[in-house]
Amino acid sequence: MAEKANPFEEMKKMVDKAGKTLGLDAGTIEVMKSPKRELHVHFPVKMDDGTTKVFNGYRVQHNDARGPFKGGIRYHPQVDIDEVRALSSWMTWKTATVDIPLGGAKGGIICDPKKMSVGEIERMTRRYASEISIIIGPEKDIPAPDVNTGGKEMAWIMDTFSTLKGYNCPGVITGKPRELGGSLGRPEATSRGLVFSVREAAKRTGMNLKGATVAIQGYGNVGAFAHKLIERDFGSKVIAVSDSQGGIVNEKGLKYDDVWAHKVKTGSVKNFPGSKPISNEDILELKVDVLLPCALENVITKDNAGRIKAKISGEGANGPTTFEADAIMWKNGVLVLPDILANAGGVTVSYFEWVQNNYNYYWTEEEVNQRLDHKITVAFKDVWDMHEKYKCNMRDAAYLLAVKRVADAAKLRGL
Ligand code: NAD
Repeated sequence: MAEKANPFEEMKKMVDKAGKTLGLDAGTIEVMKSPKRELHVHFPVKMDDGTTKVFNGYRVQHNDARGPFKGGIRYHPQVDIDEVRALSSWMTWKTATVDIPLGGAKGGIICDPKKMSVGEIERMTRRYASEISIIIGPEKDIPAPDVNTGGKEMAWIMDTFSTLKGYNCPGVITGKPRELGGSLGRPEATSRGLVFSVREAAKRTGMNLKGATVAIQGYGNVGAFAHKLIERDFGSKVIAVSDSQGGIVNEKGLKYDDVWAHKVKTGSVKNFPGSKPISNEDILELKVDVLLPCALENVITKDNAGRIKAKISGEGANGPTTFEADAIMWKNGVLVLPDILANAGGVTVSYFEWVQNNYNYYWTEEEVNQRLDHKITVAFKDVWDMHEKYKCNMRDAAYLLAVKRVADAAKLRGL
C-alpha cells in the first residue's frame, strides 16, 4: 500500500478545517481535537506452550459531550496509539453525523490473532476486558467489534465485565451474539448502512444502481456483506473484490454466494474460479461506477487519488482516504461518501442494541432495518444539505455537521 499518513493528524486537519469554517474559537477547536481520556494497558497472558506473553492495549475515550463513549475494539499487529486516537475521534464525529446520543471511543490490542489459538485469544480478551473494566460500562463507555473481533470476543468481554460486577450487564458491549442480547441485523448493519448511503448518492447523481459496476477492497465483515447486499437489493454487478492476500476481477461479475463459499473454504478470495488476479492497489483504480474501500485506512493517498476512476467511493473502512487525496478526488468529480456517514450503520445498530438491552425488550429484524434506513437517509440528507450550502465535498460537509453538533453540546454543558 502507498505512503502511510498519521490518521490522528489527518483527523485533526479535518476538525481544524470544519472548526474554522464554523467560526469556532481556537480553544473549542482544541477541545474537539483532544481525546478526553486514554488508558494504556500491559497485561500478561498464558500462551498454549506454557510461556507468558505481555500484550499492550489501549482504550481511548475521545468525547462524551453528547452521550456515553462508544467504539470498537481492534486486534491487529499494527495497532498504535495514534491510530486508536484517530479511530476514537472518528466515532465522535460518526455518532454526531447520524445524530445518536453517544460519544466516541476506541480500543485495540497489538497482536496477531491469526497466529493465536482460540484459547489464547479468549484469555487475552478476558484479561484486556478486566483491565479496561475501570472505564467502561453501560452508562460510561460501550465497546463493540472492529477489525479481527466479532461476536465471540464481545461475549467474552460481556461475561468478564458481568462477572466482575456480579450481575448480568448486556449493555456494556454491542455486537454480541443474539443469544446474549445482540440485536438482529447487527452483523450486516455497517454494510447495510453503506449501501443505503450509496443508494442515496445514486438517487442524487442520477446513477442507476441496477447493473452498476462495483469494486470492493476488503472482504471481511463490511466488504463481504456489502457485496451481498448491493447485489441482492440493488442488482449491482460486483466485478472485483480483494482481501489481505490479494484480489480477483471478472468483468462479467462475481456472485456473492460463490465468492463467499470460496473464501470460507480456502480462507481467501484469491484463485476464485473464472477470475483474474488483481493487486490491492490496482483494485482501487478500476473503472467502475462504485468503489467500496472496506479494508484499512490510508489506502487512497495523494499518490493514487488521481487514478481513481469510480464515480462514487463509499467508505466502508474508517479513514481509507487521506486529506490530500480527498481534495484530488473532489476536483476530479469523484463523489466520496465519507466514513463517518457511509459506515455509520454499524454504530447505529449498536446503538439500537444498547437501547434494546437497556429496555430489555427486543425488536424484529425488519424494525431494526427500517429504523437504520431512516437514520441513514436523514443523515445523508443532512450532510447533502451542508454539501450544497457550503459548496464543499461530502466529508467537509459531514465534519461541519458533526463538529457543530458536538461543539453545541459542549457549549451548552459549559466547560
Ligand atoms: P474484518 O477483519 O472483518 O475484515 C477486514 C478485511 O480487510 C479482511 O477481508 C482482510 O483480509 C482485509 N484486509 C486486511 N488488510 C488488507 C490489505 N492490506 N489490503 C486489502 N485488504 C485487507 O474487518 P471489518 O469489520 O470488515 O472492518 C473493515 C473496516 O471497516 C475497518 O476499517 C473498520 O474500522 C471499518 N468498520 C467496521 C465496522 C464493523 O461493524 N465491523 C463498522 C464501521 C467501520
